[in-house]
Amino acid sequence: MGSASPHSTQQIEMTSTSSISAERLTELWQKQMAGWELARHNFEALSEARKRSIDACGVSVGVQYNPGRLASVSSKPQIQQSNHCFLCRENRPQEQIGIDYTDEYTILVNPYPIFDRHFTIAATTHTPQLLDGRMTHLLDLARCCAPYTFFYNGARCGASAPMHMHFQAGNPGYLPIERQWRNAAKSEIASLPHAGLYRIDGLLRAVFLLVADSQTDALLLWERLYHALPAIPGEEPMMNVVARYEEGQWVILIFPRRKHRPDCYSATGETQYLISPGAVEMGGVFITPRCEDYEKLTIEKVCEIYAEVSLSPEEITLICSQI
Ligand SMILES: [Zn+2]
Repeated sequence: MGSASPHSTQQIEMTSTSSISAERLTELWQKQMAGWELARHNFEALSEARKRSIDACGVSVGVQYNPGRLASVSSKPQIQQSNHCFLCRENRPQEQIGIDYTDEYTILVNPYPIFDRHFTIAATTHTPQLLDGRMTHLLDLARCCAPYTFFYNGARCGASAPMHMHFQAGNPGYLPIERQWRNAAKSEIASLPHAGLYRIDGLLRAVFLLVADSQTDALLLWERLYHALPAIPGEEPMMNVVARYEEGQWVILIFPRRKHRPDCYSATGETQYLISPGAVEMGGVFITPRCEDYEKLTIEKVCEIYAEVSLSPEEITLICSQI
């Protein structure tokens, strides 16, 4: 984990599953706004950021102009050495404080926010971004810290630190998908006494919905879906996950992916859009670090990007038949 750290005085509070809460996350954010100039400046800039909404075939999608996200949007899914990793404890800024959650994660304020309250839940050790075996942690966090919305980006699906396992969390209700799933067309794929897995159609991108009031049943259906999704040998299935605990149940949205970035990302000139879809974009908010992309993004381009990076309806039908 590197040599002696100049940041050994960094403040970390210890906590357990039972004592983490939305209030503690909010308190952490307040402390960082008072004591970390970079974070305060970036959250203030976000509050002034240009935002607009476009309707894509009856589905509302938000667009956010956010120059602070340029580094994240441009990140490469390459091997990051821990001595260059911004999520490793010894490399974090001294002003960044955190809450240790069990002995596996540290909850941090994300200093380059998309949400009015934005957190990164980083693994304690430098270990690759993999959800296998960790869905239970995502569900625990979502329940303990309700109503905050938690999400996961696969290593090649928008994660800005693909070699350091992390979840993120933001204030609830910002992603349109958190409302849209309720009225969308749903077909049941599998069910257990306390959980149901559904396919959602009509939202322009492939979405699975898992609703459960039992963590055990949620994990059983999750495992069935996880193992039915296509994957390159040695890698996990490409996906984004958004999870929230509300009204006594988990609502988990899974976006199966087939492509990391759309072709327009690497195009040149007028046809280029610096858009790198992760859970936030799949959830319905497109982050554009460049003003020109913010201004020129159209309904047609949104539909095109969703179709390009999502599994196709035919692939979803095949997966459903295998669950
Ligand atoms: Zn790391």
